[in-house]
Amino acid sequence: MNGESVSQVWTDLVQLPGFAVVHVEQDIAHQRYFITVVPERSIGVCPQCHRACDTIKQRRSRDRILDLPIGSHAVELTVRVGQFECPHCDRCFTPPIEFLAEGAHGTERLLGRVAELIRHSDVSNAARFFGVAEKTLEGWYYAFIERQQQRAAEAPSGTIRRIGIDELSLKNGTDSSSP
Ligand SMILES: [Zn+2]
Repeated sequence: MNGESVSQVWTDLVQLPGFAVVHVEQDIAHQRYFITVVPERSIGVCPQCHRACDTIKQRRSRDRILDLPIGSHAVELTVRVGQFECPHCDRCFTPPIEFLAEGAHGTERLLGRVAELIRHSDVSNAARFFGVAEKTLEGWYYAFIERQQQRAAEAPSGTIRRIGIDELSLKNGTDSSSP
């Protein structure tokens, strides 16, 4: 197999949409893969003027990101992203990496699995399973739960507001909720 197809196999295996695997190292003794991923497209949307730009000022790396295991191996990701400089408004920005869990050295999908495990077991079992210090994992877990609750509170904001208006109009004797 040539380099390109090996990279494609790993990209398909890792399944991080929009990211491609460019490097894999295997630590056989510690049963660990070190996988480097980069965005498939070098383009970012400026958060200030909302225009697409492809001027990369410098490369940045997020290291030691724990992801779901592959086979018997733990997986540590290095995520290389570009810091862009918008040619339209000069703003420098690094596009957000959707799959990273904020405030944790882990992916959001790993934290999803951690939360699942904790629900059926406890933190110390989950920590042992993923090979993470208990205190560390506990911190990640609570941040993940808070994020989920925040998302749940933010997502249907339009609906909540409409309910408020309906309530108000009901009090005033008009029922706007009927079709
Ligand atoms: Zn801009």
